[in-house]
Amino acid sequence: MKPHGGALEPTPKSSDPALLATDIVNRLTYRIGKDATVATQDDWLTAVILVVRDRVVTKWMESTRDTYRREGKRVYYLSLEFLIGRLMRDAMTNLELVDELQQALDDLGVDLDVIRQLEPDAALGNGGLGRLAACFMESMASVDIPAYGYGIRYQNGMFRQEISDGWQVELPETWLEHGNPWEFGRRESAYDIGFGGSIETGEGDACTWTPAERFVAEAFDTPIVGWQAKRVNTLRLWRAEPVDPILLGKFNAGDHIGALRESNKAEALSRVLYPADETEAGQELRLRQEYFFSSASLQDILRRHLSQFGRITSLPDKAAIQLNDTHPAVSVAELMRLLIDVHHLDFDLAWDITKRTFAYTNHTLLPEALESWPIPLFERLLPRHMQLIYAINARVLQEARSVGTFEPEQISAMSLIDENGSRRVRMGNLAFVGAHSINGVSGLHTDLMKQTVFRDLHQLYPLRINNKTNGVTPRRWLMQVNPKLYNLAREVAGDGIMTDLDRLTALNDVAEDAQVQQRVAAIKAENKAALSNLIQDRMGLSIDPAMMFDIQIKRIHEYKRQLLNIVETVALYDEIRSHPERPWVPRVKLFAGKAAASYHNAKLIIKLANDVAKVVNADPATRDVLKVAFLPNYNVSLAEVMVPAADLSEQISTAGMEASGTGNMKFGLNGALTIGTLDGANVEMREHLGADNIVIFGMTASEVAQKRADGYVPEEVIAASPELAQALRAIESGIFSPDDPSRYHDLIGGIRMSDWFMLAADFDAYAAAQREVDDIWRDRSRWNAISIRNTARMGYFSSDRTIRQYGREIWSVLP
Ligand SMILES: *Cc1c(COP(=O)(O)O)cnc(C)c1O
Repeated sequence: MKPHGGALEPTPKSSDPALLATDIVNRLTYRIGKDATVATQDDWLTAVILVVRDRVVTKWMESTRDTYRREGKRVYYLSLEFLIGRLMRDAMTNLELVDELQQALDDLGVDLDVIRQLEPDAALGNGGLGRLAACFMESMASVDIPAYGYGIRYQNGMFRQEISDGWQVELPETWLEHGNPWEFGRRESAYDIGFGGSIETGEGDACTWTPAERFVAEAFDTPIVGWQAKRVNTLRLWRAEPVDPILLGKFNAGDHIGALRESNKAEALSRVLYPADETEAGQELRLRQEYFFSSASLQDILRRHLSQFGRITSLPDKAAIQLNDTHPAVSVAELMRLLIDVHHLDFDLAWDITKRTFAYTNHTLLPEALESWPIPLFERLLPRHMQLIYAINARVLQEARSVGTFEPEQISAMSLIDENGSRRVRMGNLAFVGAHSINGVSGLHTDLMKQTVFRDLHQLYPLRINNKTNGVTPRRWLMQVNPKLYNLAREVAGDGIMTDLDRLTALNDVAEDAQVQQRVAAIKAENKAALSNLIQDRMGLSIDPAMMFDIQIKRIHEYKRQLLNIVETVALYDEIRSHPERPWVPRVKLFAGKAAASYHNAKLIIKLANDVAKVVNADPATRDVLKVAFLPNYNVSLAEVMVPAADLSEQISTAGMEASGTGNMKFGLNGALTIGTLDGANVEMREHLGADNIVIFGMTASEVAQKRADGYVPEEVIAASPELAQALRAIESGIFSPDDPSRYHDLIGGIRMSDWFMLAADFDAYAAAQREVDDIWRDRSRWNAISIRNTARMGYFSSDRTIRQYGREIWSVLP
């Protein structure tokens, strides 16, 4: 890029509201072609985004020039998911233009809050893993690390969920329908991507691969603004295009449909996000997507490196590539191919460069979520990569054997090829051996990784595994979603909290201050009223904001145990009906979350939540003290309303199964009390909060493992707990499903038979913990103090802290 002076800056730097208003009207007139008197709310939204975007672009170019000049190392974050949500408020906040734009729009008679909600959510992710990638992008810009995110520009992101008669219905999501003013198409940045075909041996280690199919990857860039616009980084997403959009021969022969075949095939590659979370998709198209975006990204990285530094061997000094889970793990083989076949390095040197460039983040220990591909499929799509994987494997196994102490089972556990049953490529092992760093996402998860999935590889390479506990960006998850709490925190802790979230500890000193407590309670009440209005608008259900808002929102999965929460709700309902005279704490149980379309039990759990809600909400005997609601279409924007309104945060996964969680951190930061198990980052939350400021219950991860090993008999536990037995019987009996009394036989039968997720085993402890929560609620001053201490002590869980640790300990880009 040619440096140029300020002359080309598109807009004056001034943040004067009058100038901003003029800017907005100018965009409306000249870019959208509308007069202010006829402009729709959508037109105003686009006009405002264009004004904000121009200011972002100015900073973006400065950042790009600065990175080039410094000749420093760049970070590349490869992720099949980026769950970014809406971008406008993010950009306005980080440019510190919110008040000024609000004023400008007021003067134009436009309501910022109304147009803000018209922006579609960029839902290019399933859940936690994709949201983490989005928080990381924002934090890398905020702590001034030159970084690129690489992913796929899905035409259809995460499906939209409707609830029809209590059942989940999946509808296609069409975020690009009205265009995307944030992105810039880069026709000049396009790469060839091949599949299949044949290989010829060449000189030395090099081969020539002639793919049978070819596509083009075309780049679309979105600027990601850091806090106070310190730096603007790039999110580069790839769209698949045909090499020949129209087969002219066919077209001229009159076969107009056949002529478009290539176009349709290409389109499929970047068409849709796989809407499965924590389960392996296992389809050919998924492997094609993984290779498509890995190859495009690596070609782009090598092109940038060579054009600036000229020498391929300095790659590890100038580029750090982070693999977000195993989805981009084929990158290890692709970089080897590019270095050996295209850049003519020998195998040894290529392998050394590869290992020094890559790092890998593991996100799950669930066996069903560990990616592996059948060898015949892999070989057919990526024949050259298959060869390279065999060669890498031979080298690793040779190294392992030469240690002399490993048993044959250990060697076969380290192999990149799973030889049990039909042979498969293990993507986790490929990522492990091809990386110099393998990190888990919480202390507990990292320890378990060393003991389970990577036990043997960890023995062979004991220095590679390390921990980087997840975090969330405080700009979005405190400042934007809860501006009043942020302002109060700023009054107490000073202006620096957004650059140093640990400064929130200043709030500890005012936790017992009656006046501060009242202000915090009033802010919570306002947030609850806002959520209550949303529920009224969307569901026609009225919720008294004075009730305790008890919230569980996340993907629906058996290990996350929404079912435990629902069963406890049924038990509570039963108790209230039996003892209406007791001083029950009024509560509303709120749920939201999507189930993978093929996940039968998860969809049944959604239906059960809705069935229970229907009965409970209609019962005049319990109406004032218990309500249940399942809010449709959980996404980032809904989380932004629900998180600040929570009194109680449910983080109740079976210990050992949630890698970290990030929802838990968002709630704590916003002053909710957590009821949770010692799982994922809950363990570290307790350490930072102190045991008095979080309600922990249930078995530990090692107790769960022990119980499974000992031969757990759930019926014994159920027989010993009258409340649990009664609740399970009620659900089985059809009280909540009179139209289909046997609807939940199998779901509850699963608990009786095996109860893999230990619902029965943890039930009594969970119910007791809930009554402890009631006791705290009755002492409102104690509750408010705990709420303030939660906000005060969540500084550690800023994604800025996480990213600084990656920067220093994995990427070597920070002092
Ligand atoms: C934070 C977040 C998640 C992750 O939630 P967990 O409770 O950690 O599973 C998932 N989806 C959305 C939309 C989020 O904002």
